[in-house]
Amino acid sequence: DQLAEKHEYQAEVNRLMDLIVHSLYSNKEVFLRELVSNASDALDKLRYLSVTDPELLKDGPQLDIRIQSDKDNGVITITDSGIGMTKQELIDSLGTIASSGTAKFLKALKESQEAGMDNNLIGQFGVGFYSTFLVSEKVVVSTKSPKSDKQYVWEGQADSGSYTIREEKDPEKLIPRGTRLTLYLKHDDKGFAHPERIQKLLKNYSQFVSFPIYTWQEKGFTKEVEVDEDPAEAKKGDDDIKTEPKKKTKTVVEKYWDWELSNETQPIWLRNPKEVSTEEYNEFYKKTFNEYLNPLASSHFTTEGEVEFRSILYVPATRKDDITDNRKTKNIRLYVKRVFISDDFDGELFPRYLSFVKGVVDSNDLPLNVSREILQESRIVRIMRKRLVRKAFDMDYERFWENYGKILKLGAMEDKENHKRIAPLLRFFSSQSNDELISLDEYVENMKPEQKDIYFIAADSLSSAKNTPFLERLTEKEYEVLLFVDPMDEMAIQNLSSYKDKKFVDISREDLD
Ligand code: ADP
Ligand code: MG
Repeated sequence: DQLAEKHEYQAEVNRLMDLIVHSLYSNKEVFLRELVSNASDALDKLRYLSVTDPELLKDGPQLDIRIQSDKDNGVITITDSGIGMTKQELIDSLGTIASSGTAKFLKALKESQEAGMDNNLIGQFGVGFYSTFLVSEKVVVSTKSPKSDKQYVWEGQADSGSYTIREEKDPEKLIPRGTRLTLYLKHDDKGFAHPERIQKLLKNYSQFVSFPIYTWQEKGFTKEVEVDEDPAEAKKGDDDIKTEPKKKTKTVVEKYWDWELSNETQPIWLRNPKEVSTEEYNEFYKKTFNEYLNPLASSHFTTEGEVEFRSILYVPATRKDDITDNRKTKNIRLYVKRVFISDDFDGELFPRYLSFVKGVVDSNDLPLNVSREILQESRIVRIMRKRLVRKAFDMDYERFWENYGKILKLGAMEDKENHKRIAPLLRFFSSQSNDELISLDEYVENMKPEQKDIYFIAADSLSSAKNTPFLERLTEKEYEVLLFVDPMDEMAIQNLSSYKDKKFVDISREDLD
């Protein structure tokens, strides 16, 4: 094609492509997940922008994903009616490392020092668009942005350092808006073009996509038809009588092809919690937040009354090292009437010290074009925040504490501003709790009427704390004493210095009254 412009990939892309094309990675099917998630992102972007600019939908209100596959030729096409790409966007997105996930992948690869083949990394990070080259020999991306009146075609081959871009001239290939990917599968991977295989993969990987995904499927219905009786059959009995051939009915299957809806579009948080299984919650979590481990705990709830919203909150199983300094996280995804609004918050919706909690929040009470300023000033948001925090701590708190206790103690030491918030979350052993952890509130409730201070003793183990002579004097009088067995316990308390106007007092002090 003379009109096609040739472009070179960015060096990192070349390296990535090389890795992918020659990878022995066995879980190649992730390519479909990556492409469907891109289609879904493109639809999300369009839906979001169209809230303030309805003109963007002028080429058709439909927001969906359609996947057609030709198993004989090993071709798959994935079409979305999303935001599409302009020519420049094509160059920026599919010629460079645009995605942070892909950048992370390359970094991890470098760090793993096995320059070449750490096959697991591909699946762990997901290499985005370029994963198409796990299975494709050639990929054609034809795309039309509502910002441009031209449709552009990107074409790339496995094992080539360059790609081409041209304008779409074939009227039969024009699409009103969005993106169509055509994958020409490698010989050994043609099996992916079986419509049933596609449907199975979608079920596996893309069940939480909130736009309808249609697949082109062969269907059949049975019908009765009249056929002539087999003349040989008819002959047997009456040889010499000439009759019209007898009619008989026969059931035949009429085949045809049609689009079939292949996913459930009802978001999981709108469903009745009683009808959602733990596996579904876990899957949703892993898909949504790119996690590989199941969460430690989750909470799915609806609040009604003053402010109505639905939410699912999760406590991750592992704490990331950057928890304490990564104040701005993308952990809470805000939806308004099911439309994804933002995950870019800075404490407005969820306090920073809880930034490790992940979740989705869907409200019908906020405006769709909600801005950061609105969020900061909104009374509704303040109420939501309060309820979210409460729910976060209603989750399986013991397991939560096991994983995150140290972080909260650190918070108690460092985050003066939030002392009041953090203190009630702390847990300690106590002389009266039979090896169970208690909160400061529980302690205060259990104080004797004449008791003014909160007593504690620090030791290096629970048994040595229990055996100190100091303790005996107080337990005789039935005073409860907190047993600090983690060095951070005492440091956290020193920084708080008091709780609900009650001082913390070390019972090993000589001047103890
Ligand atoms: P990521 O999705 O993490 O950004 P990808 O490699 O999957 O990374 O995609 C790179 C970029 O290409 C996307 O950010 C997006 O801008 C663009 N893109 C990919 N697929 C589509 C699509 N179907 N519609 C519009 N843009 C797309
Ligand atoms: Mg992607």
